[in-house]
Amino acid sequence: MDLLIVGSGLFGLTIAERAAASGRRVTVIDRRSHIGGNAYSEADPETGIEVHRYGAHLFHTSNPAVWEYVNRFTTFTDYVHRVYTTHRGVVYPLPINLGTINQFFQASYSPTQARALIHEQAGEFESHAAVSLEEKAIALIGRPLYEAFIRDYTAKQWQTDPRELPAEIISRLPVRYTYDNRYFNDTWEGLPTDGYTAWLERMADHPNIDVRLDTDFFDDSQPLHKAATVGQVPIVYTGPVDRYFDDAEGALSWRTLDFEREVVPVGDFQGTSVMNYADADAPHTRILEFRHFHPERADRYPTDKTVIVREYSRFATPQDEPYYPVNTPADRAGLLAYRELAKGEKDVHFGGRLGTYQYLDMHMAIGSALSMWNNRLS
Ligand code: FAD
Ligand code: UDP
Repeated sequence: MDLLIVGSGLFGLTIAERAAASGRRVTVIDRRSHIGGNAYSEADPETGIEVHRYGAHLFHTSNPAVWEYVNRFTTFTDYVHRVYTTHRGVVYPLPINLGTINQFFQASYSPTQARALIHEQAGEFESHAAVSLEEKAIALIGRPLYEAFIRDYTAKQWQTDPRELPAEIISRLPVRYTYDNRYFNDTWEGLPTDGYTAWLERMADHPNIDVRLDTDFFDDSQPLHKAATVGQVPIVYTGPVDRYFDDAEGALSWRTLDFEREVVPVGDFQGTSVMNYADADAPHTRILEFRHFHPERADRYPTDKTVIVREYSRFATPQDEPYYPVNTPADRAGLLAYRELAKGEKDVHFGGRLGTYQYLDMHMAIGSALSMWNNRLS
């Protein structure tokens, strides 16, 4: 073995694929019973509809190198992601666009008029000076829209004072003064034509790649555990960075999600793939209806039932899957301490969403894995 990779998510699989293609022998371990990390999907047993087990995953990128790379393993459908939100019993389009603004204010503002209105309502904060999510959101969309669509959703999603959350969380979402309600701004987007798992399996399908599932790096009873391998073989570690160091600098805060699946006896439950719930009285943040991710499979999916998933967010305990880094100022200080510790680990390379404590999308995880391979490992 030339390289041990801990975690078979898109970061680990990209490194594994690149290393195998250049003749190295790689072992990938994952504590789960399947490959692919959070991008994994499977056919729902009752309906046959492809379900993303760890929440809706939409692929999008503007990075030509990443787009070229992923197309080696899968083609993509022409699915374009659109999200709607329910506020006080009325459905609005997201991200905030001219349609949302005019519907909310019961008006017919032109782009110029809408800009002037939002500028007035955002007056208390300057966008470029905003450091917290709350300041940034109010600077971008003004207080009334913030209170309707962002404040309570963010409270459910993060349970953290929005003045403590970083502005980048909200900068992910565009604000548009047109009626364009595409959720992403990227050049390319789509869903893997044969599903995520077919894509992920193709990345791992190489004689130089040995995948071992149900294998935890911290389980001393399995041969490839931490104490037996660090310093013996180069390691790419994509699990939680705080867990690697036994929380020596304190546990970083993570959010986890509970997914509540239901099969509903109708052909179409909500008419769209993702419906957000903006208000505090709905305990879930959103409802996913998976059939809508693949309209091109309509003739293969049942017409009398549909699978939906309600998503609930809460703080992760040590027993939970960590999904979202919270990134409060205290977490950022902790992360710096862990980065110092990481420098002292001989030939251990920390990567991916958990290993770097970053809110990475799939294309970012793949892009940073390609950089790590090209610049540090190859
Ligand atoms: P992961 O996919 O988390 O993989 C890490 C792997 O390491 C896991 O399989 C885990 O089991 C394994 N592991 C951890 N600890 C150990 C251990 N001790 N021993 C062995 N194995 C271990 N991105 C998008 O581009 N579009 C989206 O729409 C999107 N939606 C998302 C929705 C949700 C709810 C979440 C949580 C993420 C979403 N993402 C989305 C982000 C996407 O999931 C990540 O970018 C991608 O999964 C990152 O891959 P990774 O390899 O870094 O991490
Ligand atoms: N957000 C919100 N209302 C919405 C959608 C998003 O307040 O209806 C905020 C919320 O803080 C969320 C962030 O914007 O965490 C980023 O949204 P995105 O849809 O990108 O979140 P993800 O899909 O990563 O959970």
